[in-house]
Parts: sequence; C-alpha cells; structure tokens
Amino acid sequence: MVFSCRQCGTCCMYLGDYIVIEKQIGPFSFECESVSTGTPFVAVIDEDKREIFSDHSFPDQHPHACRFLRPDSGLIRCTIHRDSPAQCKYYRCVVMRIADPGGKQLGYVTGNLSLHADDPVLRAVWEEAERAIPSCNPDAERLYQHTLEAHGYRVE
Ligand code: SF4
Ligand code: SF4
Repeated sequence: MVFSCRQCGTCCMYLGDYIVIEKQIGPFSFECESVSTGTPFVAVIDEDKREIFSDHSFPDQHPHACRFLRPDSGLIRCTIHRDSPAQCKYYRCVVMRIADPGGKQLGYVTGNLSLHADDPVLRAVWEEAERAIPSCNPDAERLYQHTLEAHGYRVE
C-alpha cells in the first residue's frame, strides 16, 4: 500500500508536549525541540501557511495539539512542512488495511508495524508472523503482508 497522508491532523492532536517551542527568534521562526528524541531544531513557518498560522484560535481550543497545527480549507495541516522533524515527515498512520475474503474490514497496521484489530484469529496470525519475522527485518512489511494473504486475508 502506498501511503498518502490525508492531512486530517489526527496524529498531531496530542503532540503538544512532544514538539515544543523553546523560543521565538523571528516573526515566523522558532527554536524548538523534538522531546522524544531530544533533538533541537529551528522551524520557519512555511511561507504559504503564515496567514493560517497567525490565527491562534485553533491552538487555544486544542491545548494538547502540536503548536504548529492549523485548520485550512477543511484540512488540518502542519504549518512547518519543510522544517518538521524526521519522525513527522516519515510517519505513516496506516500501511495496511486488512479484510476477510468477503471484504469485511477487520483491522489495520500502523507504520511502526502495530496491528490494530479485535478479531482473535487475525491477531493470532499476526503474532505468528511477528514470531517468524522480526520487525527490524527491512522487508518485514512485505513479508507480513504475504503471511496475511497466505491465510486468505485481503490486504490493501
Ligand atoms: S499521517 Fe494519518 S493521522 Fe496523520 S495527518 Fe496524515 S492521514 Fe491524518
Ligand atoms: S511538526 Fe507538524 S507534523 Fe509534526 S506534530 Fe507538529 S503539526 Fe504534526
């Protein structure tokens, strides 16, 4: 599955404690820290998002959201797309959607290869795959998909 971000903003809604602004150093420039990795970075608001960034009603209403998140024409967008930390740029909320042979959706897998599903049979198949293939295997995503398909699941 080729991941395409829908810019729904869900993954950034509770990252206000993790992407922290330390100091404003210019009208649209900030010294920041990515707390989970302890990485400092400088963020400049994307030129085409400065107007929406200047409206602070969204962060005021959502105090746990990342300070750089803003609504924009029906989307919820990152306003530092160019300067956002690597873990933001490479984050994928869904890499596989799993359905039974009839097409009934049973669950999904996130970019860190975590299964989100209640179905006990699917969970057992996934755990079997995890035991056989370490998630650090560079080909793990494809191999997990093959395991699911070998058990009759439809994976997109
Ligand atoms: S990565 Fe997923 S949750 Fe985050 S904004 Fe994109 S579609 Fe939404
Ligand atoms: S920097 Fe951008 S992508 Fe990262 S959490 Fe904040 S709004 Fe989301």
